[in-house]
Amino acid sequence: MSDSETASKLYNLYIGGAWRAGRAERYAPTYNPATGEALAQVAQADADDAHEAILAARGAFDEGPWPQMTPAERSRILLQLADALQEYEAELADLEMANAGCTWRKSHLLDIPVGLLHFRYFAELADFDMLEPVPQITFPTLSYNFVRREPIGVCGQIIPWNFPFLMAVWKIAPALAAGNTVVLKPASLTPLSALRMVEIIAETDLLPPGVLNLVTGPGDVVGQALTQSPLVDKIAFTGSTEVGREVMRQAASTVKKVTLELGGKSPNILLDDAELDIAVDGSLWAVFMHNGQACESGTRLFVPASLYDEFVARLVDRARRLVVGLPEDGMTDLGPLISRSQLERVERYIEIGLAEGAQPALLGRRPSAPELACGHFIGPTIFTDVRNDMRIAQEEIFGPVLAVIRYERLEDAIRMANDTIYGLAAGVWSADVDRAIKVAEQLRAGTVWINDYHMISAEAPFGGYKQSGIGRELGTWGLLEYTEVKHIHVALTRPRAARFWYDIVAPRLD
Ligand code: NAD
Ligand code: MN
Repeated sequence: MSDSETASKLYNLYIGGAWRAGRAERYAPTYNPATGEALAQVAQADADDAHEAILAARGAFDEGPWPQMTPAERSRILLQLADALQEYEAELADLEMANAGCTWRKSHLLDIPVGLLHFRYFAELADFDMLEPVPQITFPTLSYNFVRREPIGVCGQIIPWNFPFLMAVWKIAPALAAGNTVVLKPASLTPLSALRMVEIIAETDLLPPGVLNLVTGPGDVVGQALTQSPLVDKIAFTGSTEVGREVMRQAASTVKKVTLELGGKSPNILLDDAELDIAVDGSLWAVFMHNGQACESGTRLFVPASLYDEFVARLVDRARRLVVGLPEDGMTDLGPLISRSQLERVERYIEIGLAEGAQPALLGRRPSAPELACGHFIGPTIFTDVRNDMRIAQEEIFGPVLAVIRYERLEDAIRMANDTIYGLAAGVWSADVDRAIKVAEQLRAGTVWINDYHMISAEAPFGGYKQSGIGRELGTWGLLEYTEVKHIHVALTRPRAARFWYDIVAPRLD
């Protein structure tokens, strides 16, 4: 397919089991951030379109078979969907590389294979025991009690542009696994892999109509229609803390269940006994994976004064050798940022860092190579002599900018690490695991990696303390976020069952 043919490919809205244009028949191009080329035209829904998708999901929940199926039946269907998606692994990886600017290595070795793994994990987990016993209750009467886990209902799911496929999986798979119905809104900049995923799922015809709906369009239109509709029971949002606050406010009018996965400014702490070779590369991986466009990126590196000069020198030496280039080149370490405005934001923060007095041990610039001229490329930046109260240490930049902070005593490092509004993740590097675990215990963050970074596993919970979010994704914790808890009490003593009535109320009636 030529570029112009690809760019003329139209993607519609998926509502109630059918693809259709938005009412206004508006489309917007979506681009390749490495080249600036349009990849496809994507339907722009309005609030009425979003409402139709919500109605379809409502109908599928209230009257359709999906929530009534046994966990085993749902699991069997989701496993078939996982198989279907697996067949398109290579195509999905190419799409992710083209639309999100992920490097070949990241898109082909991480985003899609890990996304598929996580989908399969939830497909298997779907066959879970919906019943949980409650400890034996003897007061006020003998009774048998149990808890039934039930789906919440219609879930509005809003995702960001940085990990489009993985974020779509983290939303759709656990929601469906627990028996909910879904309206998914992908990020406007990167809708293609989620659209293709839903196309592949739709082609299998395995899900009842209305169980899974996808609506593309502006966040403040489609997103708001989801957050405010009284027909939506839960909002699951991943994105910036700023928009997350807005989502929470909007959802408050109907007291929806809300889970939020928001921003971060994660600390990465080098202890003085760390194995330096591993810690150098680990710290670069922590911050520069996907150009720092990851919510959990290790953007604040705390280095003991005794190792500071040596460690910074080694860090800069290695970082200089990182390759900025086209994503499809297997040697590329840093591909493009997602957009021109994101590139300008990163450059603005570099200016801010310089003005605040941080030292640019490595200063990222736009590369001069002609083949990169139309993309949003910038080299990595390492600031040293950063103070933790500087804006570059407190605000999420979402780009390849590392702030290195010197510390004297470990307790100072821990205090500074926790001195942030965020609490998503953290790293600790030490040869002494006992010591590292003691540090990890004191960090106010949802995930702490010891001698590693970005290791997000299907089985382990992921999510934020403080303003990094509410709730957890992945693992059984992630699945249970999509369930309501129903307590069922079965009286075991008759005829004295309603004991309070006879003993306390009824005597007055005599
Ligand atoms: P964003 O907050 O700008 O947008 C996220 C989504 O919300 C998009 O789909 C957008 O269209 C939609 N949206 C925008 N305005 C809305 C509104 N008023 N109501 C409802 N929805 C609205 O975030 P982004 O720029 O796409 O992504 C980057 C951010 O996401 C970073 O802050 C990053 O840290 C965060 N993030 C967090 C996690 C996590 O798991 N904690 C994962 C990935 C990204
Ligand atoms: Mn944004």
